[in-house]
Amino acid sequence: MNILVIGSGGREHALCRKIAQSPLVDTLYCAPGNGGIADSATCVALDASDHRAVIEFCREMMIDFVVVGPEAPLVAGLVDDLTAEGILAFGPTKGGAQLEGSKGFTKDVCAKYDIPTAAYGRFGSADEAKAYVTKQGAPIVIKADGLAAGKGVILADTVAEAHAAIDDMFDGAFGDAGAEVVVEEFLTGEEASFFVLCDGENTLALATAQDHKAVGEGDVGPNTGGMGAYSPAPVMTDDLCNRVMREIIEPTVKAMADMGHPYRGVFFAGLMITADGPKLIEYNCRFGDPECQVLMRRMHSDIVPLLVASAKGELAGKTVEWSDEKALTVVMAAKGYPGSYNKGEDLSGLKAAERETGVAIYHAGTKLTEEGMLVTNGGRVLNITALGATVSEAQETAYKAVDIIRWPGGFCRRDIGWRAVEREKVDA
Ligand code: AMP
Repeated sequence: MNILVIGSGGREHALCRKIAQSPLVDTLYCAPGNGGIADSATCVALDASDHRAVIEFCREMMIDFVVVGPEAPLVAGLVDDLTAEGILAFGPTKGGAQLEGSKGFTKDVCAKYDIPTAAYGRFGSADEAKAYVTKQGAPIVIKADGLAAGKGVILADTVAEAHAAIDDMFDGAFGDAGAEVVVEEFLTGEEASFFVLCDGENTLALATAQDHKAVGEGDVGPNTGGMGAYSPAPVMTDDLCNRVMREIIEPTVKAMADMGHPYRGVFFAGLMITADGPKLIEYNCRFGDPECQVLMRRMHSDIVPLLVASAKGELAGKTVEWSDEKALTVVMAAKGYPGSYNKGEDLSGLKAAERETGVAIYHAGTKLTEEGMLVTNGGRVLNITALGATVSEAQETAYKAVDIIRWPGGFCRRDIGWRAVEREKVDA
């Protein structure tokens, strides 16, 4: 098969390396890709928002299968347009991607199908939203309805803070994404992510992970796209996974089919494990970044037949094999991130770090200069991804590799995986 992956981050680098291992692949392309992805795919300068250009490229290069990495092209209907042209693609249609594209849509699905989630209200004006907050009290959660690159969620400790967040959203702080606002009950518990493939009707549970959103050690400071992750999530026992399948995923599959949007692609369920059991915080309609990196490190099975089966409606009876080892990824970011930061800084020592420690370094924000030098090209730059018998072991290996990389303008959190490491200490 000739395969095209859409995207340019660490998630797509991990997907490309995994897909490239499949004996089913003839040629692998990635659009636009990055400085690292070039090790496993031919990078092509295609703009994914130009669906016509993507379709023409697929025709010219005889692409058999397109794997869409990020949410924006899914929400924009790239899979619908490819399908209409007879090109097989992995990922939900625009209708399916509403699960990520509109938080209010997902909350209404949960309400109608009795899926456990935080109590909520949907509002189209600041006055109504503020009145609801005043009635509910704080702490409370304010969310922009649409896509806001992970930044449209405010956890407000006081009613005043919540009111200010509502005003900001209706004043356009998140653009169109904040034209409608969801106000939610504040949930407490441990968070985990659960990944499940779906073909419109059948599901295949993949694996669990936990990530660190905050920029600072101890999970403090502003939220980022993710500073690290590990898999599996110790909190997600087999019993809990079965319960999430039964109470959250399966009713969602039914809801989407009932509404005429049979869901094909991956469910990335963000969960809060509360004292009352698992509750859905949100759905994403694609693999997580950096969660995908730890999943791909642990997956033994060939991923290509699984993605194809999801796209074709042929998941029934499929299975997936995982390594028993734990995987952990540390994100190296440019100093200043998630605020402003420099680009174009030299990176070196990557090959030595991979060779000496056995880690996989996925590139999130790099590019090759015309002279062939590897330089930084984003906020999150490298994902140092290690395997180990325990999370502690994977963590130690990852940081050994971090210390071999030479990039004075970069930083990382030194405590990725701390919850799991603490648990392992107690268990030992
Ligand atoms: P989201 O983009 O919806 O995943 O929200 C980002 C982060 O905000 C989540 O990973 C949670 O840590 C937190 N969060 C979102 N909704 C809630 C909630 N209802 N209660 C407590 N924390 C929440």
